[in-house]
Amino acid sequence: MRCMACGEKMVLIKAIEDWNMPVLGFERETYMCLGCGDIEHRTAFNKQIKEKHDAEIAAILARSQSALGGGRVRLTSGRAWAGI
Ligand SMILES: [Zn+2]
Repeated sequence: MRCMACGEKMVLIKAIEDWNMPVLGFERETYMCLGCGDIEHRTAFNKQIKEKHDAEIAAILARSQSALGGGRVRLTSGRAWAGI
């Protein structure tokens, strides 16, 4: 990513998960220009964060299903549902 002001390379200095988005997996990224020190923010989708949350949700659903004594748990395209 290049700086809009001077054209130098910008480096990622901070990435924080964004819980305000309707879909899990987005993060707020902060970039700083190596040339002029300009700061830019952007929202980006991080597939690894999404996959981590999907795995956590599936594990929680599997635990709750086994506690209830059976049923089905399926994770489909990021949306988890449990059929009892
Ligand atoms: Zn710059």
